[in-house]
Amino acid sequence: MKHSLPNKDTRFLYLEPYTFSVLAGNDVLIYNSLNGRVLEYRDSPSIAELLKKTEDAGGGFLAELRAEPLKPEISSLLSDLRENFCGDLVSFSGKNKPSIIRPKAVIKNYPPDKDSPSFSADDYLRNIYFFLNQDNNTVCTDYRFAINQFFCPVFNPQGYNEMQFETVFNTCSRYSGVSGMEINLSGSDITAYSEIKNVISRIHKLLLPVTFHLPLPCSDPDIVSRLLRIPKSRTSLYISFPDGPSALKNIRRNQVYIKKQHLVDLNFMIRSLDEYKIVTEFLQEKGKEKVFIFPYYDGNNSDFFKENVFLSRDEILALKPSQKQIYSRSLINEHLYGKIFILTDGEVFSNLNAGPIGNIHNQNMEDLVRHEIYHGQNWEMTRMKVSPCRECLYRLFCPPVGNYELFMKKFNFCDVL
Ligand code: SF4
Repeated sequence: MKHSLPNKDTRFLYLEPYTFSVLAGNDVLIYNSLNGRVLEYRDSPSIAELLKKTEDAGGGFLAELRAEPLKPEISSLLSDLRENFCGDLVSFSGKNKPSIIRPKAVIKNYPPDKDSPSFSADDYLRNIYFFLNQDNNTVCTDYRFAINQFFCPVFNPQGYNEMQFETVFNTCSRYSGVSGMEINLSGSDITAYSEIKNVISRIHKLLLPVTFHLPLPCSDPDIVSRLLRIPKSRTSLYISFPDGPSALKNIRRNQVYIKKQHLVDLNFMIRSLDEYKIVTEFLQEKGKEKVFIFPYYDGNNSDFFKENVFLSRDEILALKPSQKQIYSRSLINEHLYGKIFILTDGEVFSNLNAGPIGNIHNQNMEDLVRHEIYHGQNWEMTRMKVSPCRECLYRLFCPPVGNYELFMKKFNFCDVL
């Protein structure tokens, strides 16, 4: 078909650089990341076709509008765009087509050139989690899937085993003092770890921030106050039911704990509404800890889990991500990126809901990070890569794919699709 050249009456539709459009078939969503306004058009092939052109770099991010009068739905789209500061029309000046710049999400020098001599794992690795022990005691057995949903406690059906603390030291000494790097020490219960005294006396020598993760109840509550005294450290307590809340009450009476409670995270792992009620009563006693309430999926509490983790369409739209968050989420998984997990036997994971990527006893960290960057699935697990989210109009709004979803192999924790 022969196309006529634009003339002075030709106008072009454009979207503002801070505006995002999402297409799913003939459905369209337009989001203004500055004022949070959302425009939604369902089953409108003409709007979908126009918006597609505004995302096309080859066409200068402009959608040509020649026909007069405009279709009613296009006129109404135009007034919506203007009213909400999302876009407008520009005219053909007679000589040159107007030019529009739409920013595109890119990470500078990423992925790095494989053969680059300047490639360093230190630039991409941010957090190493070491699991010092694992067990099949009562708490670990009751929370056997905890490791797939958060970081503690670690269940092992075969019973107790440990990692040598030297593994932590050998792995981390090359990162000593590296800014932005953190280490996490977790396990079934690190207060029962045979080398815990060694940990307490040496870990600060690595010159890295460290977070200790341990369940309550734990086998030696006195260790908690000793961990709290370690410089550049935080302690993250995972409160199990039924005995965790009373163990926490006891620990909260300790003088060191009272002094250092601002360095403590309390993670309540709740499985039911009754457990949630216990937490709310507990929260009446105000402390300075950071409190997190995690619904725990035990395989039998789908209804409770659905009620407390699933998001409704309105909740998703109320999230109003920033421009920066949208760019970042379209390239990487903010929850998973830069994290490496090492189990007691040295097996290394970029996510504990996927298979190992190697073993720290016979591979170095640099090669393992390289593997994740060039061949891994986890650090770049965006909503665009999972079904049904990749087809969903709200894919830019939803938080990054998380461990719950990876564990349950279900990515639409919502009432949308
Ligand atoms: S289907 Fe996926 S992207 Fe869409 S709303 Fe649900 S979770 Fe979000």
